[in-house]
Amino acid sequence: MEKVKVDVLIIGAGPSGSVAAAYLHKQGLNIKVVEKNSFPRFVIGESLIPRCMDHFEAVGLLPCLEAKNFEIKRGARFVTGKGDLCDFDFGEKYSEGWDWTWQVPRADFDKTMTDELQNWGVDIDFQKEVIAVDFDADGTSRTTVKDTDGNTSIVEAKYIIDSSGWGRVLPRLLGLDKPSDIPKHATIFTHVKDTKRPPGREGTMITFDVIDTETWLWVIPFSNGDCSLGFVGPIDYLDSFEGSPNEKMKEMMKLSKYYFDRFDGLDFLFEPKQIKNFSASVKQLYGKGFALTGNSAEFLDPVFSSGVTFATESAHLSAKLITRELQGETVDWETEYKDYIMYGVNVFSTYVKEWYTGNLQKIFFHPTINTSIKEQICAVLAGYVWDRSNPFVKNHDRLVKTVARVTEMEQERMA
Ligand SMILES: Cc1cc2nc3c(=O)[nH]c(=O)nc-3n(C[C@H](O)[C@H](O)[C@H](O)COP(=O)(O)OP(=O)(O)OC[C@H]3O[C@@H](n4cnc5c(N)ncnc54)[C@H](O)[C@@H]3O)c2cc1C
Repeated sequence: MEKVKVDVLIIGAGPSGSVAAAYLHKQGLNIKVVEKNSFPRFVIGESLIPRCMDHFEAVGLLPCLEAKNFEIKRGARFVTGKGDLCDFDFGEKYSEGWDWTWQVPRADFDKTMTDELQNWGVDIDFQKEVIAVDFDADGTSRTTVKDTDGNTSIVEAKYIIDSSGWGRVLPRLLGLDKPSDIPKHATIFTHVKDTKRPPGREGTMITFDVIDTETWLWVIPFSNGDCSLGFVGPIDYLDSFEGSPNEKMKEMMKLSKYYFDRFDGLDFLFEPKQIKNFSASVKQLYGKGFALTGNSAEFLDPVFSSGVTFATESAHLSAKLITRELQGETVDWETEYKDYIMYGVNVFSTYVKEWYTGNLQKIFFHPTINTSIKEQICAVLAGYVWDRSNPFVKNHDRLVKTVARVTEMEQERMA
C-alpha cells in the first residue's frame, strides 16, 4: 500500500482547507491536502463578510480572487413585506478593518483558490476520501485515504487540520460531535438566471427578506448574472409546504412581497436543495496532533453569513499555531485556539439566537435606530467579533437584550 509522510495533512479543500494550506506552504512545511470531490463542486455559503478578507490577504490568496471580479458586497440589507428597511453599510462600521467583501458562487470561488495553490506547488489530491485515522500518543497519525476505485493509501502526518466541512471527519471518527444550542432550522435554496435584475445597487444588493420572525429569504446576486435564493425557517414550517422541491420553492417565493415579481416565472438552475438541522458543535476544537476548523468544528446558522469567516479565522490561526509548535515552541491550545475561537463563536451565537427571538429585528427595524448602536452592530455583522472595544462585542448578550427592550417600550409608547 502506498504510504507518504508529511508535516501536516489537511482534510478538505474548501475555504478553510485552502487558507490553512496557503499559510503552511508559505512557511515551507511539507503538506498534503486530501479532498473527497473533484472541483468545481457546489457548496452553499455564498455571502461573505469582510473579516474573511484579512485571512485571504494574509495568506496570499487575495490577488487570484480579485482577478475573478466577483460581485462586491459593501453591506447587508434587511427588509420586510410591511415596508421595514434596515441597510447596513460596512463603511460605517465601528471597528477598523475591511469595509467590503464578495458575493460568490462557491464552486468558482473555491476552485480559484485550489487552482492557485496548485500553481504554487501545493499537493492537493482530489477525489480522495479520508475514511479512517489512527493516532499515536505523541499525536503522529496515520490516515487511510480511499480513491474512487476503492484503492487505499496511508498518509503519515505530525499534524492534521480537519477542514472537512459537513463531512466532519474527525468529529465523526473520534466521537467529538455535540448538539448545537442554536434553534433547529431547515433550508431550501437554488439559483436562477436573474434576467429581470433592476439596474444599479437595487439589482446587486444582498438582501435578507424577513417573512416572519423565524423565516427569511436570502437574495444573493452574483456578477455572472445568476442569483442565489434560499429560505430558512422552522423545520415544521418548511415541511408544511407540499410537493416536489421545485413546487415547494415556487410556493414559498409567493411569501416574498418584495421579490416575488423579480423572480416570478424564472426557471431554477437546479432542483432546489433542502437541508434540515444544520447547526453543529463539537466537544473539543483540538487534540494531540489535530485541530478542527471551519464547519468541521462549529456551524451556527446562515443568518449573518458567518460560516466562511469562521472557517478562515480558525484555519489561519490553527496553521500559525501548528507552525510554531513544529518549530519547537510550546503552544497553549486551550487559550490561544479554543478560547479565542469560542469568543467569536459566542458573540455571533448571541446575534443568531436574538435574531430568532425577534429582538434584533426590533432593533434593526426601529425607525430611528441610534447611529452609534448601528455602527457597533454593523462591525459585528462585518465579522469583527474579536474587537472587545466594541460594546456590542464585549457585552453582546446584555446589550442586545437591553436595547431590544428599550426599543419595544418606545414603540409601545408611540402606539
Ligand atoms: C443554508 C446555508 C447557507 C449558508 N450561507 C452562508 C453564507 O451566506 N455565508 C457564509 O459565510 N457561510 C454560509 N454558510 C456556511 C458555509 O457553507 C460554511 O461555513 C463554509 O462552506 C465552511 O467552509 P469549510 O471550508 O469549513 O467547509 P466546506 O466549504 O464545506 O469544504 C469542506 C471540504 O471537505 C471535503 N470533504 C468532506 N469530507 C471529506 C473526506 N472524508 N475526505 C476528504 N475531503 C472531505 C468536502 O468535499 C469539501 O470540499 C451557509 C450554510 C448553510 C447550511
